[in-house]
Amino acid sequence: MMSVFYSSKGIVISKIKYKETSYILKIFTEKFGLISVIVHGARKSNSQYLGYFNIMNELHFDLIKSANSEIYLLKDADFIRFFLKNIPYKSQAYFYIVNELVRKIYTDEYDIIYQLIIKYFESLIENKIRKIYIFWRFLAKFLQILGNPIFYDNCYLCGSKLTSKRFISKRGDGFVCEFCSQNNKAIKAISSEATMIFEKFRNLGNVDLEIADNTIQEINSIFLLHLKTHFHQDFNLTLLNELN
Ligand SMILES: [Zn+2]
Repeated sequence: MMSVFYSSKGIVISKIKYKETSYILKIFTEKFGLISVIVHGARKSNSQYLGYFNIMNELHFDLIKSANSEIYLLKDADFIRFFLKNIPYKSQAYFYIVNELVRKIYTDEYDIIYQLIIKYFESLIENKIRKIYIFWRFLAKFLQILGNPIFYDNCYLCGSKLTSKRFISKRGDGFVCEFCSQNNKAIKAISSEATMIFEKFRNLGNVDLEIADNTIQEINSIFLLHLKTHFHQDFNLTLLNELN
């Protein structure tokens, strides 16, 4: 049977035990998106790959796959980096939420998404900016790449530039200006603190803004509404509540 070689960088998304000594990994790869890979013998005590397949590790994978199979076989792997090294438990949700996102998307822009994720992880590790701001900027870019950007600068109804008072469509269509909000029952107001965050969205890394927990939840729920509206109603990110 004809087999083909594949080669790509990838991030380990999950691993499950398979047979006596093997793993089945889910990997988000730069070239092919999310794939499943069998690693024979990876759990043997003398495996050359011990410690390689921790969740969120980045590796370079050499793979083989027959034309009629969905599952790849590992031929070789080179370790690149261990992103969760030295990351405190309470901050790990910022990394794991990427696992939830990449399981739900279909795109032909895997390389761009991959670069974005690597940059996001590097910013988290650098730790110069509040993690929630890093996450929101990452999510906004992620949505843009997938072709469903969240427009936070302009009213989705009339297109005018949004000012100090903002509203949002409860249906997830987007932000609404004060004028268009009048007599519109499908609209709700956004808190002044959340408004300020969206006003400064492009510069979130450069200003040291304090933010209340309930504003974080408010903004997370705005993003989640957007995801549900533009992908599907069952879209959920269970780790969203862990980000603070
Ligand atoms: Zn308007």
